[in-house]
Amino acid sequence: MKFEGGCYCGALRYAAEGDPIFRLQCHCRECQYISGGSPNVCMMMPEAGFHYTKGSPKQFTRSDLEDPVTREFCAVCGTHILSRSPKGAGSVILKVGTMDNPALFEPDVAIFTIDKQPFHALPEGKPAFERLPG
Ligand SMILES: [Zn+2]
Ligand SMILES: [Zn+2]
Repeated sequence: MKFEGGCYCGALRYAAEGDPIFRLQCHCRECQYISGGSPNVCMMMPEAGFHYTKGSPKQFTRSDLEDPVTREFCAVCGTHILSRSPKGAGSVILKVGTMDNPALFEPDVAIFTIDKQPFHALPEGKPAFERLPG
């Protein structure tokens, strides 16, 4: 698949191409900060098919976590575009809300349900994992 997206203010734009590696809904506590409190919905795409077409993001990596992800976001409006995980070398984990057409997404799995809040809904009929799938 091939799609484009960007941040809320338009300072950052990107293009992504390739087969999604993993389509997920993440309930982890860290994602709750980024999403505003709900689970985070992300599409893991091949890094080789991803590039920014406008602007360059600010990056942030927590120093107090084991294997922290690096988050990339717009320095102007704060929209989080993606994260890069040391466990997912060769891929980018794109935030579905930044896609021009988020309806292209559906989750394959829910992960980190150990941090799930009572008001979070799990995707129906899809596997859910307390942490990461095996
Ligand atoms: Zn922006
Ligand atoms: Zn998460």
